[in-house]
Amino acid sequence: MGYLDLSKQELEKEYSVLSKRFEEIKGMGLSLNMARGKPSKEQLDFSLPMLDTINSKSDFIGEDNMDCRNYGLLNGITECRKLFADILGVDAENVIVGGSSSLNMMFDTISCFMTAPAVEGCKPWYEVKNRKFLCPVPGYDRHFGITQYYGFELIPIPMDDNGPDMDIVEKLVSEDESVKGIWCVPKYSNPAGTTYSDEVVKRFAALKPAAKDFRIMWDNAYCIHEISDTPDVLLNIMDECKKTGNEDLPIMFCSTSKITFPGSGVAALAASENNLKVLREKYNYEIISYDKLNMLRHVRFFKNYDGVLKHMEKHKKILKPKFDIVLDTLDKELEPAGIASWKKPHGGYFVSVDVYDGTAKRTVALCKEAGVVLTGAGATYPLGLDPNDSNIRIAPTFPPNSELEVAMDVFCTCAKLAACEKILNK
Ligand code: PMP
Repeated sequence: MGYLDLSKQELEKEYSVLSKRFEEIKGMGLSLNMARGKPSKEQLDFSLPMLDTINSKSDFIGEDNMDCRNYGLLNGITECRKLFADILGVDAENVIVGGSSSLNMMFDTISCFMTAPAVEGCKPWYEVKNRKFLCPVPGYDRHFGITQYYGFELIPIPMDDNGPDMDIVEKLVSEDESVKGIWCVPKYSNPAGTTYSDEVVKRFAALKPAAKDFRIMWDNAYCIHEISDTPDVLLNIMDECKKTGNEDLPIMFCSTSKITFPGSGVAALAASENNLKVLREKYNYEIISYDKLNMLRHVRFFKNYDGVLKHMEKHKKILKPKFDIVLDTLDKELEPAGIASWKKPHGGYFVSVDVYDGTAKRTVALCKEAGVVLTGAGATYPLGLDPNDSNIRIAPTFPPNSELEVAMDVFCTCAKLAACEKILNK
């Protein structure tokens, strides 16, 4: 029976069972971590042969007939631009391959528009005193952090199973010229694992922003990161924007962080020629050229897009059982208590759990006390403020399965204990 259907006496009994269990867990001296979305060691090992694709005897000349050991090719080497063009579903001329982090390219993009107008005649964003950015919630803390750092007011936009609430997005974007952009993780969103519906993508492409320099930060970080045999399919926003004449709206990002090595992968952005012109101007001052040896290493390892997809199958085999552990434990432990809800994602890196209202912080604190570190409660909301104090992001990819099982057991015990406390007003 669900906790809310129990009598006070029955719930008190459950509370004392859970408290005892919690003390037992604490006595185990655990040290487990489900906080950040990092690949497991096994996954990293899949890319080790990539390190052998280049050595002192290699030929370093790429398709551009340039020595990749030297300066040059600010847009990245052609074969790597083509690879990312296939991944993102755009033309290679619209791709810039950067360094090892897409977050870095997003930061750079916002930073660029702060001082250089995205559209001629518009004010650079630093001059727009009441500048605002839309933040679909729950979302990715580091996205919100970038626009917080640059002094934007962050406006939470509720998400449902189809993506952000487009009625609210359309209203804010069309009415307020100080709304300059929106953060989107359109496939297997971080943390809920939501893929935007065709209708949502079409409505994004059809936006009529009051601000001529409104931009959609389309972070396709999990574009090919499947865990299910029935993957979600995301409509290509650039194709839709071509149909609506809105090609300047989206700036697309992705990286191989969760394909090869996080922090030592390759990142790319794709955008219209108008946007690229503004961004290239900044890159011209910022760097002479990025790490072409790493680009070459990646291309020689994967050969082509098909090679990348085959590699992703290996990740899937490791990740699927991890997500199963999380989801099965939630089903078994939390479902009967009726105090939490969650989604079953088809890909990505996270499971988003909404625990009993007002208990997310307490659940995370109890887990910490029991030796299990989770992403901080509230992190999935701008400024860390979850109005319901209910969302917790679970990152199941890093711990070995045996540890993950224990960590999930602890999580469920703590979520139930926190719910009991709340309902019983302890
Ligand atoms: N975007 C999203 C949605 C992410 O979840 C992450 C990593 N957690 C990143 C970007 C970071 O990507 P990168 O390593 O390419 O900077």
